[in-house]
Amino acid sequence: MWQRGAVTDSAPLDVDLALLGGGGAASLLLAALDRHEVRDLRIAVVDPVRRRGQDRTWAFWGHPGTDLDPLLSASWQQVEVATTARRRVLDLTPLRYAMLRSGPVYDRAAAAERRLDATRIVAPAETVTDDGTRVLVRTGDGRTVRAGWVLDSRPRPPARAGRT
Ligand SMILES: Cc1cc2nc3c(=O)[nH]c(=O)nc-3n(C[C@H](O)[C@H](O)[C@H](O)COP(=O)(O)OP(=O)(O)OC[C@H]3O[C@@H](n4cnc5c(N)ncnc54)[C@H](O)[C@@H]3O)c2cc1C
Repeated sequence: MWQRGAVTDSAPLDVDLALLGGGGAASLLLAALDRHEVRDLRIAVVDPVRRRGQDRTWAFWGHPGTDLDPLLSASWQQVEVATTARRRVLDLTPLRYAMLRSGPVYDRAAAAERRLDATRIVAPAETVTDDGTRVLVRTGDGRTVRAGWVLDSRPRPPARAGRT
């Protein structure tokens, strides 16, 4: 039965870029778009959860001098290798090992999202259909997003159920 004005019949939201999942990957992309002063892109972020605070810690190898440097909680440029016979301190240059907490990453992404004037949809992306020209995303709150580009960073369900 067709119901006039039902949420599911609302006009699609047309955007250039839809981010399905607003976690680590989307946060980095939002920050990069903002850093490059992209201001003419229509963006939607679809995630049932608005990520904030400390729910992840990322630790990784890399070169110093990136945009993440001011956000790091810690970084190491030397390692100590100890055995019963010897102890040596090794220089990691040109690499370093770094630790990044999620809070500052999410805060930076939230500020970027505001400056980019992105539309936030607090609902899961349910179906994603690529017709070769546009991608249609149906969301759990009955909306449709029509996008030129999609970054789909929704976690994949595990291939098989595990005990942990
Ligand atoms: C405790 C912990 C420690 C970790 N440590 C490290 C580390 O040291 N180094 C490292 O590289 N990685 C680490 N990881 C892995 C880390 O989670 C990933 O590297 C990173 O967060 C992946 O980013 P992502 O954007 O792909 O996923 P996420 O950051 O998990 O984001 C996925 C988003 O998708 C959203 N979502 C889920 N379902 C839907 C849906 N249907 N529609 C729309 N959105 C949806 C979720 O709400 C979430 O916000 C760690 C993970 C955990 C939990």
